[in-house]
Formats: sequence, structure tokens, C-alpha cells
Amino acid sequence: MNTFDKEHFNVEVKNGCFDLPFELQPETIAIQEAVKVILKGLNEDINREGIKRTPFRVAKALRQGTRGYKQKVKDFVQSALFPETGLDDGQAGGVGGLVVIRDLDHYSYCESCLLPFKVKCHVGYVPSGGRVLGLSKFSRVADVFAKRLQEPQRLAEEICSGLQRWVEPSGVAVVLQCSHPHYDGFVEATVTSGSGGFEDESSELWCEFLSLLKFKLRRDVSLEDWCPFFKLRRDVSLEDWCPFVIENSSKVSDADSEMVAAVVSILKALGEDPSRKELVSTPTRFLKWMMKFQNVNFEMKLNRYDCKLKERKLSCETNIQFWSMCEHHLLPFYGVVHVGYYCGDGLKPLERSLVESVVKFYGFKLQVQERMTRQIAETLSPQVNGDVIVVAEAEHTCMISRGIEKFGSSTATVAVLGRFSSDLSARTKFLESIQKTE
Ligand SMILES: [Zn+2]
Ligand SMILES: [Zn+2]
Repeated sequence: MNTFDKEHFNVEVKNGCFDLPFELQPETIAIQEAVKVILKGLNEDINREGIKRTPFRVAKALRQGTRGYKQKVKDFVQSALFPETGLDDGQAGGVGGLVVIRDLDHYSYCESCLLPFKVKCHVGYVPSGGRVLGLSKFSRVADVFAKRLQEPQRLAEEICSGLQRWVEPSGVAVVLQCSHPHYDGFVEATVTSGSGGFEDESSELWCEFLSLLKFKLRRDVSLEDWCPFFKLRRDVSLEDWCPFVIENSSKVSDADSEMVAAVVSILKALGEDPSRKELVSTPTRFLKWMMKFQNVNFEMKLNRYDCKLKERKLSCETNIQFWSMCEHHLLPFYGVVHVGYYCGDGLKPLERSLVESVVKFYGFKLQVQERMTRQIAETLSPQVNGDVIVVAEAEHTCMISRGIEKFGSSTATVAVLGRFSSDLSARTKFLESIQKTE
């Protein structure tokens, strides 16, 4: 094995809780039951084909997404500490010994609202005692803490102190760039944590570390992306970070106490203490937000007025933002919708607000993207005499936060009716006009 025979390298006996198959484990069953209560509370038919397996999928996603509660840093670190001669005690304390690991992609769950948020993690450390940690283990260690209910600052501190404790370097620095989904896109926060030689953020070591990060970012990120991140923002309060902390729309009434109890039981099943002060309001916050996707609620304003227009020309409404909820995983997907149509025969162009209300109507539901795209097309079609094309481009939270962890992927869906289904040049013309607006 390795030469560092310290008491913390002793392997701990794993507890036997994984002996039962996943679907029979009490935590899985508890979450499934809770999800059924929530779905019923949202007026969904829990036997509907699309959502029949949703409780199981949600349980799987949530338990996978919080597996960090059952993991220990030392289990990943102990077999991957390598002796490196030349890094003897006392020689590695200077800037020369700095090791930087950049761009580790993770996701974590926001403890305030239970939505997944993205984390880009950068670690710097100065080895000591002739010990270096295998590079792949930094990602493992970050993941142990990311796969819990978190907020950015605590996550940074836990990664930092976990590495400090088990690797015992002369210093560790952690920078996290976190993005929390919000109706207008993302809320970004950059947080830092440092220990040992990195405790003082004005030190030479920090300076060196940050300049190495900036150097990397400058090469492959545009200036607009680069700039806001690296103004190390210490001013992000919790209210700024999680948009759902301050949001106070529909009040969760006493009638929903059963749903609140269901979310509380989910928190327990994940291994959390629902009475922890950061988690006390989480169930109501989560439910308020879920209520937005209740099967109801947005009016579609479909009244049109005729006017005199002779020629039929391609009209477009592009980049209409939407939010929706994947009915398979109860996780949001969001993006933009583009609509193209031929207008004429006495009709004036659709008003953007009308298209927006249709998009909103079909977005705020338990949905699948393909169906949403088709429903928007079918609803608009009679308004424009049949010729309509709808393109939806979306990022799916379930793509990053379930096992696959596909970062930066997006999904486009297309629905065509009337002339657009047979006329390739009409489709091409529309797709070109989308590209121009992006
Ligand atoms: Zn949140
Ligand atoms: Zn999904």
C-alpha cells in the first residue's frame, strides 16, 4: 500500500445499509411515497403513463444526488497519496510547490429550494511532507461534499477543510463558480476558501493561484463570461443566491400540510436533519415553486383582430424564454422558444405577448419538451391559418443532475404544421432567421 501509516488510514467497516436492492431500501420507498403525495397535491393523475414511474425516478435522482452523506473523504484519499521525493518538509512551502487543478465540473443541490446548481471547482494546494494526492482524487473529494444539500460558501469550506485534514498539505485554496437556475437564466456566485498558507487571501500564494486560473480562463472564455466571475464576489447574500428564498407568490396553506410533511420525509430519507435552521423553510419554498407547475393557471389570450394584408410573408417571434418541469424527474428544464409562421389572408402578425402567453401556458406544467413544442404549434396554428413552425431549445437539469452528468448539453425540438411540413425552403429560411437573432 502506501508508506503513510497513520491511524486515519485505517479502513472503516462499511455499514450494511446497501444490502437491500435499491428499490426496496426504506429511503427509496419513503421518497417515492412522498413524491406521490406531492404529485396528487399538484392535481396530477399519478397513474398517467408519463408520470407513473416518476416517484421512482425522483427517488433515484435525489438519492444519487445526495450520495455524499454516505461517503468519506479518507476512503478516496488514503490509497492515492503518493510519496514525492523532492517535496520534503520545509521545501514545499513556497510558491514553487503550488499545484493547481482547474475546471472540475460538479453539481450540488441547493438546500434552500432543492434545485440542482452547477459548480465549477478549482483547487490549489502546496504539498507537504513529501505527499502528493493523485490528481483525479480532487474531483472525488469535491464530489463528496457537492452531493449533499448545500450553499456555495459552505461547500467551498468543506472541500477545503476535507483536503487539508486528509492530505495535510501546507495549504489548500478552493474557488467555486456556482450557477443557480433562475427564471431569467442563472444567478452566479463565486466563493473561495483557504487554509494553511492560503488563509490570508492577500498573500502571494493566492495571487499566484488566481493568476493561474485567470490565465486559463482568458484563453478560452469570452471577455463577458470571464469578467463577472473573477471579480471574486464576496457580496452574494443567500437572498441573492437562491432566487426562491425571497420569492413570496402563492402562500402554501394549511391544506398543504400533507405536502409539507412529504417534503420533510424526503429530507429525512436523504440523511438530513429537517430541523437544521437552513432547512426549516425549504419544504414550503420547494412547494411554492412546484405549485407554479400545477396543472392550471395561465390564461391564453387568443383573441385576434382581422386587418387587411394581402401578401403572405414569413414572420418570426424568437427567443421567448420559458420554464418548465420535466415530468419524468420533477426537475426543471428551461430555455427559449422560437415561432415562425406565414401571415396574411387578412390577418395581421401575432402579437408577441400572445405568443408569450401560449408559451407560458404550456411551459408551466409537468411536461416533456417534445410535447410542449407540439402543443404550442397546435395552439398557434388556427391563429395563423395553419402554417407554423416552433423550435424549443432547452437545458435540462435532469441531464446534469442524474447519473449522466452531461454538462453544457442542450436539447432542441421542432414542430412543423401546414406549409412548413412540406416546404424545406420555408423551414430553412426560418432556421436562418433564428441564427441571426442569436
Ligand atoms: Zn435555491
Ligand atoms: Zn428529465
